[in-house]
Formats: sequence, structure tokens, C-alpha cells
Amino acid sequence: MSRSSLYPEQQLQRRALAWALRLKVNPEKVVIERLPGKWGSCAPNGVVKFATDLAAMNDGFQDYVIVHELLHLRYRDHGKFFKAMMTAHVPDWREVEQELSNATTTRTLENRAVRREGSGPSKDES
Ligand SMILES: [Zn+2]
Repeated sequence: MSRSSLYPEQQLQRRALAWALRLKVNPEKVVIERLPGKWGSCAPNGVVKFATDLAAMNDGFQDYVIVHELLHLRYRDHGKFFKAMMTAHVPDWREVEQELSNATTTRTLENRAVRREGSGPSKDES
């Protein structure tokens, strides 16, 4: 079977694309690359990125990160619609998130750990 001969990064990308179909979102591009300090990101231009080393993580964690980032194509924030969708597709996402925050390596999902203190430009406020 040729499927098992795919590189882990290719498998991760295929997994992300399969999720995009299921979530009915249309990322401009799904990129797998080194993302120091984070697992994934979703840019306003629709380019979704995942860290290469996410490919080595277990399926449940991959799904959590993938669904989270892809949902940002539809919801920019982590509001109640976002959370409802997370619950619908990754029912145990809260546990995964808890594990993530308990992990010895402090690596956030995105770079969201940086709190906005209200200073500086907030350009994506519509
Ligand atoms: Zn997020």
C-alpha cells in the first residue's frame, strides 16, 4: 500500500485537507513547516500552517490542532460559536487543551499567550 510510504508531513497535510472538507472550509493553502514555539497558525489570507513536528504527535492531538486552526477560517476569535464547533468535531478538546497547558514544555497552540493589553494598534477589529 502506497499510503504508508507517505512522509509524516504529507500524512499531516492530507489529514488537514480531509478536515477542511469535513468542516466545509477552504484554506488558501495548507503548509507544513517548522514553526518554532507553536503548533499551528491561521493567517488572515487563508494560509493555514502546521508545525512539522506535529506529524509525530498522536492523532487526537493532531485533530485538535488541525480543527482549531481550520475553524479560524470561519471564526477569527475563540468565541462561543468557535467552541461549539470544537465540541462538535473534537469532543474532548478541553482535555487536550488542559494537557497542553500542563505540559512541561510551554508551547502554546498559537502565539495567543501574549495578552493584548489594549495598547498598540488593533487592526483586525471590525
Ligand atoms: Zn486559536
